Amino acid sequence: MRILVTGGAGFIGSHLVDKLMANVHQMKRMRYISGQSQEWIGHPRFELIRHDVTEPLLVEVDCIYHLACPASPIFYKYNPVKLPFSQTRLQLRQNVIGTLNMLGLAKWVGVRILLTSTSEVYGDPLEHPQKEEYWGNVNPIGVRSCYDEGKRVAETLMFDYHRQHDIEIQIARIFNTYGPRMNIDDGHVVSYFVAQALR
Ligand code: UDP
Repeated sequence: MRILVTGGAGFIGSHLVDKLMANVHQMKRMRYISGQSQEWIGHPRFELIRHDVTEPLLVEVDCIYHLACPASPIFYKYNPVKLPFSQTRLQLRQNVIGTLNMLGLAKWVGVRILLTSTSEVYGDPLEHPQKEEYWGNVNPIGVRSCYDEGKRVAETLMFDYHRQHDIEIQIARIFNTYGPRMNIDDGHVVSYFVAQALR
């Protein structure tokens, strides 16, 4: 299979790429911000695509894992509109236009697409633990809103494309992941506590 992983050089994406490459798939991986593991570059079944998902992408693939999104609360709190990177773009553009483009691609080539979403879609939940049916309690104007609402819109787009165009979709709401290759200053709760303890 030709598999497209957006955000494939990021913390979670790079682990996914490793897992998929271990099964010797042909890989198209996109690298944008975090650019961490590069060990697959040069592998005959691996292709690195340097591309911003907020721009349309035309590639022939058999399935899409759409992970690309700046997820560190440090960055989106610091500057929710314009991220402090040389290749700057908007958190919301990434989630909305980026997901729209990947759905357009999925529709065009007729393949399944998985979106990595977040526990943040539940906001400050009033139910514990959160079930998938729970709609959440999100502050629309808070400092985390650009991420929370961005992912909520991304999920909305996924379901709209599923309903309207019969695209096969999957959404994974990831809760507070941590582990190897994570930036120690990422700002997520587990790494935050671990970093403070180490210091
Ligand atoms: N798109 C893309 N790659 C494709 C097909 C579409 O990046 O192979 C983008 C396209 O530029 C558009 C978005 O996906 O902005 C949504 O495409 P769709 O065809 O669903 O919507 P439309 O262009 O009809 O509004």
